[in-house]
Amino acid sequence: MRISVYGIPTLFACLALAAACAPREEVTRFQFLAFGTLVDIDVYGADRELAARAAADIETCFQALHRDWHPWGDGALGTINRAFARGETAPIDADLAGLLGEAASLSRASGGLFDPTLGRLVDLWGFSDDEQSPVAPPDAARIRALLDEGLGMQHLRIADGRIASSNPDIALDLGGFAKGVAVDRAVERLRALGVRNAIVNAGGDLRVIGRHGDRPWRIGIRHPRGKGVIAELEVHDGESVFTSGDYERYFDYQGRRYHHILDPRTGEPATGAISVTVLHRNAARADAAVTALFVAGSKAWRNVAAALGMTHVMLIGADGHIEMSPEMHERLRLVQPALDDRPRIAGDFA
Ligand code: AMP
Ligand code: MG
Repeated sequence: MRISVYGIPTLFACLALAAACAPREEVTRFQFLAFGTLVDIDVYGADRELAARAAADIETCFQALHRDWHPWGDGALGTINRAFARGETAPIDADLAGLLGEAASLSRASGGLFDPTLGRLVDLWGFSDDEQSPVAPPDAARIRALLDEGLGMQHLRIADGRIASSNPDIALDLGGFAKGVAVDRAVERLRALGVRNAIVNAGGDLRVIGRHGDRPWRIGIRHPRGKGVIAELEVHDGESVFTSGDYERYFDYQGRRYHHILDPRTGEPATGAISVTVLHRNAARADAAVTALFVAGSKAWRNVAAALGMTHVMLIGADGHIEMSPEMHERLRLVQPALDDRPRIAGDFA
């Protein structure tokens, strides 16, 4: 589907700064829904037919990945999760096996804070239901029971095209990672087709190719509480910007917010941040990293960022203060305060 950039309401997190300033004939926007979010592909200055073909290819690829990697659907991941629950092994193809290998190494580097084996917890909290939002937290005893055996990628074994789990309570959930992988694949596809200037933006998580004419692409980062964007930055060829926030999926219960990013140590929504943004060259790593850094929160994010090789990080703490690495501070321009407007720059950032 091709839509003129001027013909649609601006999607919030995104980065519509680039679009808003773009002359109509220079940027063509393609949009579709995938991974439960609106995906925009903005292409600058390319042959429209070529761009349309690339966008259609990417849409087909995203829909296939969404089907294959849905934790409870009919695809490969759903089949694996149902087999684990029965104590059985399941077939796994080389692509998914490679992806789980990458996820396992990111999980290890994050000290287990990024943990794609917590699918049953996500389901227990009601966040795996695409149609309905949960209304109350689950019973604490049920959370404890799921954590009993210990979750984690170390329980998985892949051999001879099959995957097994030593813990039947494990279910794979790639919700914190899949979008990044998909965005990297989209960028590869665009490049392979000869598109030299584009943004692939999946609900505010994005990666860019080339430039917006005579200047870099410019994007905004959504304010986690207020309206509009909290910061802007210029993003260069090959860079991606990913954000995890407690506003993406949540419910309020008895005056407290319960959101979709769970701390694998407690089985509860993480409480140390309200939003984390990273800039990094690899979207898949960036995606896993923001989830892990969100769980790490304001006390521990520096060490986790160093372990994951993330140099450009902004974290908005639970009390609204903004913390950043010096590298991120150099790149980013705050346009409005969070709750406390004095950003703290992490001087000792590795
Ligand atoms: P993101 O928005 O990228 O932070 O991803 C959040 C999604 O990842 C959730 O909706 C869950 O499906 C899954 N998830 C939640 N907590 C974690 C975690 N600690 N590690 C890995 N995936 C998680
Ligand atoms: Mg993520």
